Amino acid sequence: MARYIFVTGGVVSSLGKGLSSASLAYLLQSRGFKVRLRKLDPYLNVDPGTMSPFQHGEVFVTDDGAETDLDLGHYERFSGISAKQSDNITTGKIYSDVIRRERKGKYLGKTVQVIPHITNRIKEFINNDVSREDFVICEIGGTVGDIESLPFLEAIRQFSNEIGKKNTLFIHLTLVPYMRASDEIKTKPTQHSVKELRSIGIQPDIIICRSERSIPIDQRKKISLFCNVSIDDVIETVDVKTIYEAPISFNKEKLDERVLKFFKIKSRKKVNLSPWKKITKAVLNNKRTVHIAIIGKYVELKDAYKSLDEALTHGGIANNLKVNLVRIESDFLKPKDVKNKLKGVSGILIPGGFGKRGTEGKIAAVNYARKNKIPFLGICFGMQMAVIEFARNVIGLKDANSTEMSKSTKNPVISLMNDQLNVEEKGGTMRLGSWKCKLKKNSLAYSIYKKDLVSERHRHRYELNFKYNEKLNKLGMISSGTNPKTGLVEIVEIPSHSWFIGVQFHPEYQSTVKNPHPIFVSFVSACIKKNNQ
Ligand code: GLN
Repeated sequence: MARYIFVTGGVVSSLGKGLSSASLAYLLQSRGFKVRLRKLDPYLNVDPGTMSPFQHGEVFVTDDGAETDLDLGHYERFSGISAKQSDNITTGKIYSDVIRRERKGKYLGKTVQVIPHITNRIKEFINNDVSREDFVICEIGGTVGDIESLPFLEAIRQFSNEIGKKNTLFIHLTLVPYMRASDEIKTKPTQHSVKELRSIGIQPDIIICRSERSIPIDQRKKISLFCNVSIDDVIETVDVKTIYEAPISFNKEKLDERVLKFFKIKSRKKVNLSPWKKITKAVLNNKRTVHIAIIGKYVELKDAYKSLDEALTHGGIANNLKVNLVRIESDFLKPKDVKNKLKGVSGILIPGGFGKRGTEGKIAAVNYARKNKIPFLGICFGMQMAVIEFARNVIGLKDANSTEMSKSTKNPVISLMNDQLNVEEKGGTMRLGSWKCKLKKNSLAYSIYKKDLVSERHRHRYELNFKYNEKLNKLGMISSGTNPKTGLVEIVEIPSHSWFIGVQFHPEYQSTVKNPHPIFVSFVSACIKKNNQ
């Protein structure tokens, strides 16, 4: 039977619960156990698909087409396990499910209540689709004390009671601040947060203390005493220089050992930290830098392009260099300023995006990259911008556009294709998840993947309009990747340019440090070549 590890957070948000859970997953996996990672989000949206990246950061897409919290990206990148639909639930999903059942009369006239109906449904989700895992790590979003997270906390309390306390471990992650003025490390916020958790009926077994400096023994003793945990279960996590150091640092603090000790399980293998040591060294010691411009609507927000930032870092590591991202906010990028703003960059990347705002600046940036032979990678919306630019300036279709931006354009080079879904509803109406892509021999794409058939994750409504395929191909923008079933164009490239690729999918979702995505490795390599010219 699987053992469950619940990870809660206290004092403040953004403490790195996701990274802690992902690191623990790696450590347990490396010790020979089968692990599953799950995220329980207390917000009311059914999924984060309709949320602005400004609010919630990137939307991560799984192979099976779920739009999920960005923490699932961390999980995949650290553990290498492909996340599934069933690994992310939200209050919205639970409530809509319970209300649907209520409408169907499934509750047989009973009053439907948070306890037991909502909590039961949460418990069902926690237990759902688990097969032969040794550990299921469930991270509870939000901070203990939030109104929204209460049903989740109540549910995990009940769950622990039902499957047995010895089969469930509660980890609470808190902030232990350092007060510069008095040169002291303060434990009070942790004490209060644990008190709050205990008032709900949850006694943490391990407390992870996030701190900017190492926590002295006296303060650890205090946390142990007031929070009722053994001193060995007060684990500190001091800010690391790179996230790749996190598994090393948690192992040093014996987090994985304490977890196994709690469950009275022996390690099956010796933990292997060498990949992380190698990567940390590479990240911290790389002296060469390449400057790549990323032009998007949300570049100011750190988490809005999380997987993309990571994928570029992976591409950098594979090329033994550091990628410096020159973030350019597309809303303020006037076509006339493009040259000035992009001067000195060795590569240009336009990521995914939605809506009209800032598109003319992006199209001008594509034009600049195409004409000046600067390596260009267009991802999803970025590919669509590249097609529009080519149609306008090479084919001469001056009003070429996507119907997302202009419903009345005479040349909808990007549009909803026949078999697209009903787009009246904004939630859950996209081409989502993994789709196959057949590559054309002798193309740049083929030389990058070195395979005939690949599978990549999508998240979009609009597509390259078949009608323009021939014209594009004829004038030098070829489709080098297509979906074998539908014929939809998945990759375009310009063979007369040294490195110009647009992909309708999001390669960044599949990039991990262990397996950096070949598109990013090749893109960064092309940029460094440009740098050295
Ligand atoms: N807005 C575009 C579409 O829906 C692109 C989406 C994206 O970049 N993820 O097709």
